[in-house]
Amino acid sequence: MIVDAHAHIFPDKIAEKATAGISAFYGNLPTDSNGTVSELLQKGASAGVDMFLVQSVATVPLQVVTINNFIAECCKNYPDKFIGFGAMHPNFPNIPAETERLISLGLRGVKLHSDFQNFRIDDECAYPIYKACEGRLPILFHCGDPRSDGSSPERLLNVVRKFPRLTVIAAHFAGWTFRNKRAEQFAEYLSQHKDAKIYTDCSSSLFAMTPTRAAELIRTFGAERVFWGTDYPIWNAGEELARFREIPLTERERGQILGENLLKMLNQ
Ligand SMILES: [Zn+2]
Repeated sequence: MIVDAHAHIFPDKIAEKATAGISAFYGNLPTDSNGTVSELLQKGASAGVDMFLVQSVATVPLQVVTINNFIAECCKNYPDKFIGFGAMHPNFPNIPAETERLISLGLRGVKLHSDFQNFRIDDECAYPIYKACEGRLPILFHCGDPRSDGSSPERLLNVVRKFPRLTVIAAHFAGWTFRNKRAEQFAEYLSQHKDAKIYTDCSSSLFAMTPTRAAELIRTFGAERVFWGTDYPIWNAGEELARFREIPLTERERGQILGENLLKMLNQ
C-alpha cells in the first residue's frame, strides 16, 4: 500500500496558474506537472500509488469555503483514492463553525502554510484553529523556508507545548531548509514525549540531500513518525519514489513510511 501523504490539487481552470505560482515562489523549481486531479491520479497510478492525501492552501480567508467544498467534492468522486484535508486561515471569521462544517464534509485534517498565509505559526491569531482541531483533526503545517521563520522548529515546538493534544504533521522534515540540523531539536523533544502526536513527511526534501542524510533524518524522528509524499505538482510520484528507494532503510521502515504510518494516524 503506497499513500502519497502530501499532494496539492486545484480546479482544472486555475491549476496551471496555481502550479506556476508555487514553482515561481520557490525559485522556479522545475515541474512538469499541471496540478490537476486527473494528472495526479494518472501519474500516481503509473508509479503504483494507491491513495493520496489531497489539500490546498487558502491564501486569503475568502478561499477557505471554496477550497473545502472543492476538496470534499474530489473525495466524493474518488472515495477510495483520496483522503482530503481542508483549508483554514487565521483571519477566517468563524473558525469553529467552518471546522465543524469541514468535518461534516468528510475532510480529515487541515492544511496551513504560514508563508502563503502570512502569519507565524505560534502567533495567537492561529490559536482558534488549534483549539478547534485539538483532539479532532491533524494539522499539516508547511515547514521551512530560509527566507522567513514563520514555521521554524522553535515556533512549532511552542505550538505543541501549548496544545499538547494537537496532532501535527510538520512537512518537509519539519523544515530541512532551516540548516544547522534544527530537526534534531525534535528528536530531543520526542525523546521526552514518547506519545507526542508529531509526524513529518519527506516531501520536497529528498532532491536536496543524500540518501544517507535522509536516512539520518528519518531516524532522528523515528521511522514510525515519517510519511512519504510528493508535494505534487512540484514533484511527481515516479521521481519521488525513485529517490525514496535510494534511502538505506529496512523493508519494515519503508512500509511504515510509504503508507502504514499515515493510515494508522488517521485511524486513531
Ligand atoms: Zn504543501
